Amino acid sequence: YQRMLAVLKDEPAVSADGVHVTMLANVELPTDTEEAGQVGAEGVGLYRTEFLFMNREESPSEEEQLEAYRQVLAAVDGPITIRTLDAGADKQLGRTSKIATNPALGLRAIRLCLKETGLFRTQLRALLRASAEGPMRIMLPMISTVGEMRQARHLIDEVGKELKRENIPFDENLAVGAMIEVPAAALAAPTLARYCDFFSLGTNDLIQYTLAIDRIDDEINYLYDPLHPAVLTLIRMTIEAGKAAGISVSMCGEMASDKRYTALLLGLGLTEFSMHPASVLEVKRAVMGADVARLRQRASEILALTDVAAYREALDALGREIA
Ligand code: PEP
Ligand code: MG
Repeated sequence: YQRMLAVLKDEPAVSADGVHVTMLANVELPTDTEEAGQVGAEGVGLYRTEFLFMNREESPSEEEQLEAYRQVLAAVDGPITIRTLDAGADKQLGRTSKIATNPALGLRAIRLCLKETGLFRTQLRALLRASAEGPMRIMLPMISTVGEMRQARHLIDEVGKELKRENIPFDENLAVGAMIEVPAAALAAPTLARYCDFFSLGTNDLIQYTLAIDRIDDEINYLYDPLHPAVLTLIRMTIEAGKAAGISVSMCGEMASDKRYTALLLGLGLTEFSMHPASVLEVKRAVMGADVARLRQRASEILALTDVAAYREALDALGREIA
């Protein structure tokens, strides 16, 4: 089976009815990039930068970050989407003084960066400088309001002006996008899209926040359900809002890496998948066997079902079809 998959490495991910799907890798450590290349990923859809900041007292300097971002740009063919620091909740840096009552609802991700602008600016300078060396995009985690998007973009503009004054090159058309991982962002996606160059669905958090299920609490993980109709509705809304606004929509949460969901996601209109390199080839195989036009029809019929048993059965059948 693995050998059969390996043959697909250099094949384009095109469905049976000719829809091109972009297959991207999620990377965390610079060493993951090697694996991304081995499976023929077309780029990186999520580079998690937290590892640079974890298990240490001081934040990494601009130069240290620049070096790390450069390494990934040099190691991977194709565009790299780098996510700004997503600290807090399940990714504690270990130096927060206050214990929040609800860390997942607290000062985390973009909220933390917009408060600690010194830390954020250093990362943005490193990111902008890296952008001079290869195709890159900046992705902001846990966006829930247009205001956050505007503030972040304003800081990026300021950092850009600063670099210009210093005669340091950077990509002036650098794309800046939002992770859609809070229900409010999905619901407001048509408005948010006006401030974003792309969306990326972070289903790990989107499921947590939509269903009010702590993603790391084992006692309630039986309720953590990617197929809940509320979750699928939010995913569909996000994809449609992105399409209507003419911006790209990818998915970088775990859901994108599970081949049982590939048919469904294609049916919801998703054409960009980002996942752990180990899953890229099997999801690609599922894509290549899919008739997207028919899946679109099926998905919309299934989402209209209100009978729970029929809904589950139809989704199971869809999952088995091309996996
Ligand atoms: C997500 O929330 O789906 C995601 C990709 O980000 P993380 O798992 O790092 O929170
Ligand atoms: Mg997340």
